[in-house]
Amino acid sequence: MDVKERIEAIKTLLARYNYEYYGLDNPSVSDQEYDQLMQELQYLEHLHPEYQTPDSPTQRVGGAVLERFVKIIHPTPMLSLANAFSEGDLRDFDQKVAQEVREYSYTVELKIDGLSVSLRYANGYLQSGATRGDGVMGEDITENIKTIRSVPLTIPYKGEVEVRGEIFMSKDAFMKLNQEKESQGEALFRNPRNAASGSIRQLDPKLVKKRNLDVFMYYLMDRNLASDHYASLMLLREWGFHVNPLTQRVATIDEAIRVIEDIETKREQLPYEIDGIVIKVNEYHLYDHIGYTAKYPKWAIAYKFPALEVETVLEDISFQIGRTGVVKPVAELRPVMISGSLVSRATLHNEDFCMERDIHIKDVVLVRKAGEIIPEVIKALPEKRTGNEIPFAMITTCPQCQMPLTRKMGEADYYCLNPDCEGKHLEGLIHFASRDAYNIEGLGERILTELFNRGYVSSISDIFQLKRHYADIVEIEGFGVKSMDKLLDAIEASKANSLDKLLFGLGIRHVGAKIAKVVCQYYSDLQSLMNADIDALRMIPDVGEAIATSLTTYFKDAKNVALLDELQELGLNVAMRATKRVHDHAFSNKTIVLTGTLERFSRSEAKERIEALGGNVVGSVSKKTDLIIAGSEAGSKLEKGQALGIPIINEEEFSALLNNQSTSDRNEGGSL
Ligand code: NAD
Repeated sequence: MDVKERIEAIKTLLARYNYEYYGLDNPSVSDQEYDQLMQELQYLEHLHPEYQTPDSPTQRVGGAVLERFVKIIHPTPMLSLANAFSEGDLRDFDQKVAQEVREYSYTVELKIDGLSVSLRYANGYLQSGATRGDGVMGEDITENIKTIRSVPLTIPYKGEVEVRGEIFMSKDAFMKLNQEKESQGEALFRNPRNAASGSIRQLDPKLVKKRNLDVFMYYLMDRNLASDHYASLMLLREWGFHVNPLTQRVATIDEAIRVIEDIETKREQLPYEIDGIVIKVNEYHLYDHIGYTAKYPKWAIAYKFPALEVETVLEDISFQIGRTGVVKPVAELRPVMISGSLVSRATLHNEDFCMERDIHIKDVVLVRKAGEIIPEVIKALPEKRTGNEIPFAMITTCPQCQMPLTRKMGEADYYCLNPDCEGKHLEGLIHFASRDAYNIEGLGERILTELFNRGYVSSISDIFQLKRHYADIVEIEGFGVKSMDKLLDAIEASKANSLDKLLFGLGIRHVGAKIAKVVCQYYSDLQSLMNADIDALRMIPDVGEAIATSLTTYFKDAKNVALLDELQELGLNVAMRATKRVHDHAFSNKTIVLTGTLERFSRSEAKERIEALGGNVVGSVSKKTDLIIAGSEAGSKLEKGQALGIPIINEEEFSALLNNQSTSDRNEGGSL
């Protein structure tokens, strides 16, 4: 391939990567891979300027402007930044600045990994918000911007002014969003940057609001309002903008490099992703003298952190089944440290991903772990092959039940459609007990798998009947009476969870934690939810056709109805209100009879209060009754209770117990 062809080939690749990154928010290569190609292109164009065209990615800023948004022309183009990848690059930059001007200082800022935004204010009010787009024209995202709490809607300055900054999603918000997406069977965002970019370009501001985006501002575009860049950032902070607190002013490039080294050590602990450090000349009056290229200002540079990527050997490929039946290839790696943690497994996504990258077992592969994100294999290094490698092949049968797998139309994933597949069931149970779902302390993946494999738990209701196997389980190595008792306590306590936790735990397709909560705000008891039809469910905000259909289909299935009946009989709370842990209260798990007239409570109110604390109110007295609450003029039920020796309390005592909801009630509860 000659130079011209290579240039064209790189341009074609970069155009595709740009589209995936900016247009689809779903890059297929790492930033480092992209940057390397860009550097190669810059180098080739430098050697052969005759092949450089104005449309080359080396000459143009970023992304495409999506058609679905109104366009906004930027008063001054929104440029990118020149990149530095080493200390040497930074010193070169400093030398070039020094050639132009004598006295200068720098502002050192975090390079937040998000997307840039331009905000325009007039008369003290926010007028518009726009993405960078292609630098000249961006997308009008004003309504979406208004949902970000750290964007002030009014500022004390009354003139017309433009402020620029970076919209980002914190690592926490990103993890939550992806968990939510995973539980709804949706494709995950690759990283917080793509999540932020995809979120701010949603058409519905209500959806944007839920994505918990944030913003740090880093440019005040009117240079008459502050003495220099650093002062302008301080002014922005005074006006109420979010300005990154780690911003520093330094005198020399040496100091700037020290700051970079220091921040690099803190990078992992930051609550948001950064991909480098930006160094800007501080003095405004030097800017025009130092100048600009078509793509970036020459008075600033972005130092990009080295890749958190390492080489290791792909020892084997295993296949993991999820609770929806999706079967995914997983890389079993020779363990390797990446940014402070030992990585021995990484996702290989799906068949297409492995085929496109020509992945072989025993390949040397590049693995990446960015921040909190699940490690992933980026690519194989075929030049390191010895000839003993085995090409990847997707399995055709379920790794658990051996039934044939199906690739759904238009999807990259394979599914096991066998409703009785044990692998799916186990994953479903692990999901049920997990923190965001039913949150049963001590019932994690390892223990559940053990109990499942030994046949003690094969359905959700088995979890609540674990006591039956007490004698056998305490004999399991490493288990013992103490941990079994603790586990049983946790299981008991979990029964008080509010309905949404149960609903999410059931693993109904498209019903993630958030949707479960919203649905249960409208249908606060299980029965009414089960009775709701598609149209009624669709009236709930955020509930579309797919979710409504999924819910009604689930509740129509006799197997599911039987499970829910059983769970109710086992004492699981099926109302939204009982968020109190059951073992925390004297009424928890008690069968209680109300009789006579209560002064301060109606019968239904008293019943609701007891149930909210995990008690069960029944209509008649029997040997199974734990407690009778007797109001005035109590009759035969009271007499029967007295005859059976059942504890009886009056309204005052009842009221006192209601108000005494602390854990110190636990002993009293036990003695009732
Ligand atoms: P850039 O990310 O290298 O730097 C410029 C941007 O940095 C600005 O536009 C701004 O949004 C941001 N920024 C963050 N903090 C800042 C601060 N304190 N001051 C000023 N700006 C700040 O350039 P770019 O043009 O936005 O994107 C190009 C980069 O995006 C590439 O180098 C690559 O890493 C990545 N990319 C990756 C793919 C892929 O397929 N993986 C594709 C396209 C681009």
